[in-house]
Amino acid sequence: MKVTVLTAFPEFLSSFLSTSIVGRAVERGLIDVKAVDLRDFSQGNYRQIDDYSFGGKGGMTIMPEVLDRALASVGSDDAKVLFPTPTGSVLTQDLVEALALEKELVIICGHYEGLDERFVRESVDLEYSIGDYVLTGGEIPAMTLIDALSRLVPGVVGKELSVTDDSFYNGLLDTPHYTRPSVWHGQEVPAVLTSGDDARIEKYRKRTAAFLTLSRRPDLLSRANVMDYLEDEVYVGIVVSSDTVDPSGMRGIAQSAGAYGVARVIAAPERREDFDALRNTLASVPEIKCVPSVRRMTEWAGRKKHAPLLVIAAETRPGVPWLEAKRRLVETGGPTLITFGAPPTGENVIAMRPIQTTGGELPHTALVAATLDRFFGSR
Ligand code: SAM
Repeated sequence: MKVTVLTAFPEFLSSFLSTSIVGRAVERGLIDVKAVDLRDFSQGNYRQIDDYSFGGKGGMTIMPEVLDRALASVGSDDAKVLFPTPTGSVLTQDLVEALALEKELVIICGHYEGLDERFVRESVDLEYSIGDYVLTGGEIPAMTLIDALSRLVPGVVGKELSVTDDSFYNGLLDTPHYTRPSVWHGQEVPAVLTSGDDARIEKYRKRTAAFLTLSRRPDLLSRANVMDYLEDEVYVGIVVSSDTVDPSGMRGIAQSAGAYGVARVIAAPERREDFDALRNTLASVPEIKCVPSVRRMTEWAGRKKHAPLLVIAAETRPGVPWLEAKRRLVETGGPTLITFGAPPTGENVIAMRPIQTTGGELPHTALVAATLDRFFGSR
């Protein structure tokens, strides 16, 4: 990836581009970053690049001609032109990952009041902000973006794993980290981390990441696939009327459930006396476990588990919004049954608001897939 930074203070970037991970990436040619001095495109003898803002209180704005000449000097019509500004869209990991797909970027750093708006309208493709505070210039936001981008370039960060495990990559926050000594100021490293049991360590890391996200950034939950962050398995329960059940539709449901990592689909008839008929009809779909009643369904899903079973009854009106159901699912983390059809009753049951559509009802297969996608779809 090639990045050109247009700035009145190119010296700001020199140590950044020659130090640590980014410095090595530049040296090895994994990223190509150049800082260009806006003053080289100034007018007059004083290397002037800005002038008083019209209607302002004495603040300065960088002039459009200067910016235009500097941008033309980059000599690329295909580059995506970015302007860091507090009024831009907030820079997120998603936006960084989208920008990492570009071949060439130009980042224009503002100073003083910013850039002349006419130039921004004519030449800037994207305005981004690094947060709700105001810095003196765009150099730190430019470096922020370059740093985040460079971590996504293969070979820049030593172990690929550390990038994919970091905060936001999978949607949630990272787990806390510890190093030697194992006891420091009387505080011990959590015993599980020194147990050598990889599976338990992985589970612990995922659960601590989930709790950190729930307490500090619950807003992140909506975008994340939370399956890996649970301690136990998820089941889908379908309550059907045995005379209308369609094996190919049920096979589709089992397929979607499997694709989202659901451990098992369990079907129960609306009326207990229809159990044999249901089992015969679904004999051709071995992926689905048939049980005689909703009660048996919950017993089966919760069997042999130490934690109580959480039941999320989808398509129930009135019910809690789906994001709250997702929060409860992550918080509980134990075995979970997501049911469609007649809702079970019991203590640990959440009634979830049905998915809203504007053009009529969703077929059952689509309804199950759309619901599972909200919990276990990758962003
Ligand atoms: N008048 C601008 C406003 O209130 O939105 C603030 C200008 S600021 C003093 C000067 C420059 O710093 C901006 O043009 C921008 O390039 C950069 N800057 C400051 N804060 C920023 C932020 N949170 N995100 C991105 N860029 C920022």
